[in-house]
Amino acid sequence: MHAIVVDATGGPEVLTYAERPDPRPGPGQALVKVAASGVNFIDVYHREGRYPLPLPLVPGSEGAGVVVEVGDGVTHVAVGDRVAWCSVPGSYAELAVVPERALVHVPSGVDFELAAAAMLQGLTAHYLTRSTYAVREGDQVLVHAAAGGMGLLLTQLIKLQGGRVIGTVSTEEKEKLAREAGADEVIRYDRTPFPEQVKELTGGRGVDVVYDGVGASTFEGDLQCIRPRALIALFGAASGPVPPFDLQRLSGLGSLFVTRPTLSHYVADRDELLGRAHDLFGWIAGGQLRIQVSQRYPLAEARRAHEDLEGRRTTGKLILTV
Ligand code: NDP
Repeated sequence: MHAIVVDATGGPEVLTYAERPDPRPGPGQALVKVAASGVNFIDVYHREGRYPLPLPLVPGSEGAGVVVEVGDGVTHVAVGDRVAWCSVPGSYAELAVVPERALVHVPSGVDFELAAAAMLQGLTAHYLTRSTYAVREGDQVLVHAAAGGMGLLLTQLIKLQGGRVIGTVSTEEKEKLAREAGADEVIRYDRTPFPEQVKELTGGRGVDVVYDGVGASTFEGDLQCIRPRALIALFGAASGPVPPFDLQRLSGLGSLFVTRPTLSHYVADRDELLGRAHDLFGWIAGGQLRIQVSQRYPLAEARRAHEDLEGRRTTGKLILTV
């Protein structure tokens, strides 16, 4: 098979298109012929070694395709099933071995590209807005990088729950996309500091929750524009990790809460994974959730996809077609 291989961690140039022996499924695993592979920021962290994985590595944390072989003891899926998965490395390839516990069936009304695009970011947006902090009617919510893959999904799911979205973006095109996804207010945080504007837009009160996947460049500002006893859900670090932080400051700033959630803890239980995926695919099929696949790259051009994602040149979802 062909796959993208990382032999040594580093920049996008370490993503090499190469031939590899076809993998075989072990007990409890299925072999999937990959049709589409989603590109995510976590793939960058894996490639850089910020989240270390054994080398050589076939990166890629989500995909969709057809089961072509199953290992011993597999009961939930069979050859020919249409499936999708996330949080298992190896999807930047023509074939991927996936534990059956990570696989979900893709309904007939959802194509592979949408399924691959929905899994990792969709499940994350689901748990952030339903479990980490369950958004309620009338909540005021700050969403950073609102035109990104996560941002567009968060915005739509918050609106479905009746929240008011204040989004941040860095370009005019991104502002338009965020508004189309339902953002009530959009702040150009590349031009002016966002905390003052958030305070003004909330009548001085501050927001009820911040969803922050940007990290280093936004976290200090988050602290300045949330109401007392509110929550910062710091779910990523697109601009770099937040430096060490003195917890005592949370007291003076208003008895604030900070959490650093990660998807694996919100889908570890198989029923929870299936329930969240069921909601997502239902919303997609019913038209309540629009997945914006904005950039497609052939598998061999994964390097360009990473360069664009890290260069802030992308919006919505990036897909590798296999
Ligand atoms: P995005 O499509 O959101 O791309 C990142 C965006 O962040 C950029 O487009 C840019 O938007 C903004 N950004 C601000 N500063 C920088 C910078 N210095 N370098 C690059 N981008 C910057 O990516 P994803 O949707 O894939 O991921 C968003 C975040 O969500 C990531 O941090 C990722 O790790 C996290 N994540 C966390 C999960 C979890 O369970 N914890 C699961 C899934 C994703 P703009 O130009 O508008 O500022």
